[in-house]
Amino acid sequence: MTQPYVALPDKPYLSAPGSSTAAGLYIGGSWRPAADGGVREIVNPYDASVLTVVSEATAADAAAAVAAARAAFDGGPWRAVPADERGAVLHRVADLLARDRAEIALMESLDTGKTLEEGGIDVDDVVAVFRYYAGLADKDAGRIVSAPEGVFSRVVYEPVGVCAMITPWNYPLLQLSWKVAPAIAAGDTMVVKPSEVTPVTTLKLVELVEEAGIPAGVVNLVLGSGATVGSALTEDPGVDLVSFTGGLDTGTRIMAAAAPTVKKVALELGGKNPNIVFDDVDLDTAVDYALSAAFFHSGQVCSAGARLIVHEDVHDAFTAELARRADAIVIGHPQGEGVRCGPLVSAEHRAKVEAAVARGTEEGARIIAGGRRPDDPELSRGYFYRPTVFVDCHRAMDIVQREVFGPVVTVERFRTEAEAVALGNDTDYGLSGGVWTADAARGERVAAALRHGTVWINDFGPYFPGAEWGGFGRSGVGRELGPAGLDEYREAKHIYRNLDPKPQRWFG
Ligand code: NDP
Repeated sequence: MTQPYVALPDKPYLSAPGSSTAAGLYIGGSWRPAADGGVREIVNPYDASVLTVVSEATAADAAAAVAAARAAFDGGPWRAVPADERGAVLHRVADLLARDRAEIALMESLDTGKTLEEGGIDVDDVVAVFRYYAGLADKDAGRIVSAPEGVFSRVVYEPVGVCAMITPWNYPLLQLSWKVAPAIAAGDTMVVKPSEVTPVTTLKLVELVEEAGIPAGVVNLVLGSGATVGSALTEDPGVDLVSFTGGLDTGTRIMAAAAPTVKKVALELGGKNPNIVFDDVDLDTAVDYALSAAFFHSGQVCSAGARLIVHEDVHDAFTAELARRADAIVIGHPQGEGVRCGPLVSAEHRAKVEAAVARGTEEGARIIAGGRRPDDPELSRGYFYRPTVFVDCHRAMDIVQREVFGPVVTVERFRTEAEAVALGNDTDYGLSGGVWTADAARGERVAAALRHGTVWINDFGPYFPGAEWGGFGRSGVGRELGPAGLDEYREAKHIYRNLDPKPQRWFG
């Protein structure tokens, strides 16, 4: 029997299924419908039912949002707000997020298909990000530069201006917080565009930002497709910076679209992240972490440990245990008791995962767990896919090189440390990687040799708001989080003062 699961809360910006109207754009400090009244149905990935109806913006709405952000930046009071007060605003948003933790976790879970527990973890992480940048907002106003006598020289930081923020569907609120919090700390104004399939918690964040008392026009929200609204934002000459998290193909398009107006771009793209296991580790622990690395949020994680590289002496024992435990993972309703994996985000995305698995099989990789939808008829309407383990993989295979972004892990073998490092670096990406070994020196050597933005030794996945996050290679441009994550949103300006100007007579 189906359990009585909790539904979405009532919100003015979320219309009931079947509605033909919605007022979910937030421009210049007020909620409004799209210019042409457009709406979009948001689908619950658990059973393909309509979860809610939201506004669907037009390119004209995107232009209006940029104009509002521009006006708030160029002429509004925001830039004059002292940095400590911007920090206080961030603390207020963090307080409100913590207050509404259960509601936000539910919204994120229903919208994305992640479990309710994971939704709660996301909210905790988002609160920590807002608190981190609240603390950083007034800590670094600039520096005095060594200069000749009679000269006073200093570097100060100023906001970049109007930022367009475009986010993906896997961590809608978390990825957005990495952009909105430092941008507020820096004094920018912004236009936010979430993925068209998962807008719900972005709407909620804007509700809280409004409640926290941010001046009108500082944070603006448009909902809609990347092709229409996203590209309108990246091309708009009123935008100074495009901060994007999403796939590699979209990232390259955004770079090209930003080029004619020489916008700054910050890109967090995908990854195909190696997880290297040496033969001296406790296999039970290494398998346990390998499962989390590969299958947390059904593998829809940019930093998923989707590429296992296992020493050949433990390969067979490791993969047998990995497959046994992957087959035992409980999948079902994100609010269900003991459920660890919910559905994938959409029918389209599951079709991509299935196509990647089919390609892997054609290439000669062998499935030892999963590789199919679940048999449970209760789950047949949703976008479920079983955790999948491929063995007999080698570095040239598409399934090893291309990001699947689903519950699929490949396993390769290695014999020497040098070979493990070479495999771990044999990728166009460079987002994250892990190394498992009982030999501390070897762990450090391998971590130093891996060309990835984050490397875990004897762990996989944790991050801190204070540590930079981003990619080498095609995993992106720039860094989020940490002090560098604030620097993305500000310009350094050198101010030089001649204390006693006298004629130089250079030209006589
Ligand atoms: P997409 O690249 O498809 O979309 C990301 C965002 O870009 C969405 O809001 C999308 O809009 C928008 N978009 C699409 N086309 C354009 C365009 N031409 N111009 C402007 N915006 C556009 O990524 P997914 O949503 O599928 O997310 C998955 C990807 O994100 C994976 O590759 C994953 O690795 C990466 N990712 C990276 C992270 C990191 O920290 N490095 C973190 C999380 C995810 P819409 O969907 O509304 O059409």
